[in-house]
Amino acid sequence: MLVMEQFRELVSLLVPPVCLGCGCEPSDSRAVLCEGCAEEMPRLIGALCQRCALPLPCEICPARIAPWESATAACSHEGPARGLVMALKSSGAKRVAAQMAKLMAEPQLYAQPVALVPMPPDPARLRATGVNHARVLADQLSCLTGRPVVRALERLPRAKSVRQVGASRKERQQPGRIQISSRGTVPPRCVVVDDVYTTGASLQAACLGLIRGGAKTVNCSVFARALPPGFNRSMPRTW
Ligand SMILES: [Zn+2]
Ligand SMILES: [Zn+2]
Repeated sequence: MLVMEQFRELVSLLVPPVCLGCGCEPSDSRAVLCEGCAEEMPRLIGALCQRCALPLPCEICPARIAPWESATAACSHEGPARGLVMALKSSGAKRVAAQMAKLMAEPQLYAQPVALVPMPPDPARLRATGVNHARVLADQLSCLTGRPVVRALERLPRAKSVRQVGASRKERQQPGRIQISSRGTVPPRCVVVDDVYTTGASLQAACLGLIRGGAKTVNCSVFARALPPGFNRSMPRTW
């Protein structure tokens, strides 16, 4: 797997650089986004719900009974943020993850002695793509925060491997759809790291796995928050 990761990283250096937001050629050949897309990154800042990571008011909070202490997202899942997520999922490139991690490395959360726990990959998807994107993201976040990555979770294969990608919101929230359990020693304070928070079903399964395994506190840190359909965009646009 390591050889494959190195191979992909090498290929990404040989391919002419394109902006992952708009496809143009960035003036800085090492950048993953052009200046325009970097400026238009839909950052989520201002008054945000600590439970569901949406801008306030979140009305009936979709995460009111979630098992985590808090969930934070760096961006909303649109525009250039969506481009970065797609690139990370398909390539697992470190330089894409590094750009995302920079926006996620919130000082307050990482001032505590937390362990970074990557969302475990779906075994079928991992076999098909060879990309463990949450792991790559957690590794980059670890470089920036100095907090260790602990692979304390594993996802159990399902009989009919129904993936989250492409599933409807209702399907995603079916109980038992995602089965995640702890493995090895679970650190007392964990931060679950993932690329996108859509319905929160995966995050919920991951947090419950950690709590059952002995974690005292669990927080979630994602790069992008998908805005639910019909979400009131009266939020102050900060981009
Ligand atoms: Zn661009
Ligand atoms: Zn909320």
